[in-house]
Amino acid sequence: KETLDKGLEKTKESIFSKLTRAVAGKSKVDDEVLDELEEVLVTSDVGVDTTLKIIDRIEERVAKDKYVNAGELTSMLREEIAALLTENNSDDVAEFTVPEDKKPYVMMVVGVNGVGKTTTIGKLAHQFKAKGLSVYLGAADTFRAAAVEQLDIWGQRVGVPVIKQKMGADPASVAFDTLNSAKANNADVVIIDTAGRLHNKVNLMNELTKIKNVMSKVIPGTPHEVLLVLDGSTGQNAFEQAKQFTAATEVTALAVTKLDGTAKGGVVIGISDQFKIPVKYIGLGEGIEDLQVFRRKEFVDSLFG
Ligand code: GDP
Repeated sequence: KETLDKGLEKTKESIFSKLTRAVAGKSKVDDEVLDELEEVLVTSDVGVDTTLKIIDRIEERVAKDKYVNAGELTSMLREEIAALLTENNSDDVAEFTVPEDKKPYVMMVVGVNGVGKTTTIGKLAHQFKAKGLSVYLGAADTFRAAAVEQLDIWGQRVGVPVIKQKMGADPASVAFDTLNSAKANNADVVIIDTAGRLHNKVNLMNELTKIKNVMSKVIPGTPHEVLLVLDGSTGQNAFEQAKQFTAATEVTALAVTKLDGTAKGGVVIGISDQFKIPVKYIGLGEGIEDLQVFRRKEFVDSLFG
């Protein structure tokens, strides 16, 4: 709760200071206030489409020109944002357990370089291990030596095995090895890192498809989860990346990182609404403990609390 509050501090400050300015001296919610509210949301990186949806709903609620004070407007905004997050995110699914028929539970992690993919994998491995689960990591981002090294460092830090091959090896082959090792050792969870090269959509699609095909051959039904990692501090860029990755492969969950130190936390609301994919994790710092399961109620409470 503390980490969440602290992590969302800047977003909260920014939304509320803008909101206060928008309603200052106003005695009713008219078009002008709605326009300003729209501006508040758009500049908080909620995204234009989601913003318009929220504004429409609020407009319906305040029979126009009726007096609504700043407090009431804020409550309405809070309720509409909570409602939007509820449509796409369940508080229940977020708490992770390995289903009986999905062992090992296989996650493939995708995302552009630099968004915090490796860090998120390390933090996840730590969380799973803390729950008493055995974890295998697969270094299938074989294009950057640094990526394999980084994952290796996280593996050592957390105390979980990292399956790797030499630089430039076939990522699908690394996935193959990782799943086989995990299976042979009766592991609970497998997390596969992948290369985040976006320079060519067809290449990206082919690469991810190939890795998935190999996985499902070793263990039918895998990957169980394709987790797309997005850097929340990049705001609209994160939307763009979500668009490209969801076009290239079936993404089943999102992790939004670096929400600490940014005022662009509204991106979580917009992305979850636009892509209809649950946000399952949020990154709130560089430390091993700074990844939280996304709980919509806590998120809204923290933002408006
Ligand atoms: P990758 O290239 O996607 O694997 O990115 P890395 O995992 O190497 O992370 C890139 C940088 O972002 C590193 O300096 C991380 O410490 C940092 N980082 C990752 N997640 C977070 C987060 O939630 N908050 C902050 N502040 N930094 C993060």
